[in-house]
Amino acid sequence: MFDYIIIGSGFAGSVIAERIANVLNKKVLIIEKRNHIGGNCYDYKDENHIIVHKYGPHLFHTDYKDVFDYLSNFTEWQVYQHKVLAFIDGKKVPIPFNFNSIREVFPKTLADRLERKLLEKYQYGSKVPILELKKTDDEDLKFWADFIYEKVFKNYTAKQWGLKPEEIDPEVTSRVPVYISRDNRYFTDKYQVIPKDGYTKIFERMLSHPYIKIMLNTDFKEVIKIDFENNKIFFMEHEFKGKLIFTGMIDELFDFKYGYLPYRSLNLKFETLDKEYYQEAPVVNYPNDYDFTRITEFKHIHPVETKKTTILKEYPKSYQPDKDIPYYPVFTKENRELYNKYKEEAEKFENLILVGRLAEYRYYDMDDVVKRALEVFEERVR
Ligand code: FAD
Repeated sequence: MFDYIIIGSGFAGSVIAERIANVLNKKVLIIEKRNHIGGNCYDYKDENHIIVHKYGPHLFHTDYKDVFDYLSNFTEWQVYQHKVLAFIDGKKVPIPFNFNSIREVFPKTLADRLERKLLEKYQYGSKVPILELKKTDDEDLKFWADFIYEKVFKNYTAKQWGLKPEEIDPEVTSRVPVYISRDNRYFTDKYQVIPKDGYTKIFERMLSHPYIKIMLNTDFKEVIKIDFENNKIFFMEHEFKGKLIFTGMIDELFDFKYGYLPYRSLNLKFETLDKEYYQEAPVVNYPNDYDFTRITEFKHIHPVETKKTTILKEYPKSYQPDKDIPYYPVFTKENRELYNKYKEEAEKFENLILVGRLAEYRYYDMDDVVKRALEVFEERVR
């Protein structure tokens, strides 16, 4: 009945399904355990007509023109430049930390000196990872780097990961730069936009093809069986000879036989408030105070006229398999080795393709995962 089966309807699964139907003219079944499509990018209008992102704020930004052009087939965009403030010593300052942030927190003479020294050492407009700055010999710059490390980075990272920053893979730490500039934008990519009608509409349009069928509320284990001895895949008791594209957790696919891959999870608490706006920016980070890491106010992202507002507080927590949503892979050498064991198992199956953040145990931004799915389609699916 189906030429392809896809597990998961996030960007990884949906892009490949769309390509299979529209380019190959073949039939595809998507199996999705949630009661909606879109994976973690799913959004909806709440009772006050505010578009909220169910699994945390999602901001689209990319330098990949091909990805932007591809997604533009499924949505109109609104120009949107994301801004983040951090609550530090009672003030809200722009982050990534930049020259404007320096002026907010330090006296003018020190701010002038820091700016001059930074410009002697780094090019205007560059991004410097905080861990690199901490290694400098200059007393002022070292003081500054230590200040940011303590006030902006250390406690936030500790909250987010339950770890010391040094224990985390550079892939994660290098994501936290300071900007040698006055640019208050959180991203510097060429395309910074938000889908006009939200992300879920993108998925609905991608998947509205007669050759794409979707089974919601279905865990793949209910309908797919893996024969590990003969490396065969069964769908509804029959051997499935088409290709299986798997975007769920790789350890779950193999019954956790080598153990659980660790993740960090989040408690997400939405609140509706009886006021027009709650905060000055779409996102305010709280590195040092409170137990939540950040507050998002969705009206800043999707403007709408209403006297109420919806905010989201994010409380990071450890991940308990079968109970929590696996949000962020925990990058350590040990975990990568564990992942590689599962990957080797997967490679024994001729008709199994792994793609996406859970199947590849990687942090992918939305544009990365769309790019990856388009590449996998070209190289392995068609
Ligand atoms: P997912 O979206 O997770 O999709 C996987 C799908 O598989 C899910 O629908 C899941 O239900 C399904 N599935 C899993 N197991 C099973 C099973 N057993 N049976 C059936 N179905 C199953 N990226 C950005 O570019 N900008 C941002 O601002 C941004 N913010 C983020 C904020 C947070 C809190 C998080 C966690 C991520 C953020 N991302 C952001 C990244 C973005 O969410 C990912 O790039 C994207 O979701 C990856 O798509 P995916 O298809 O690989 O995974």
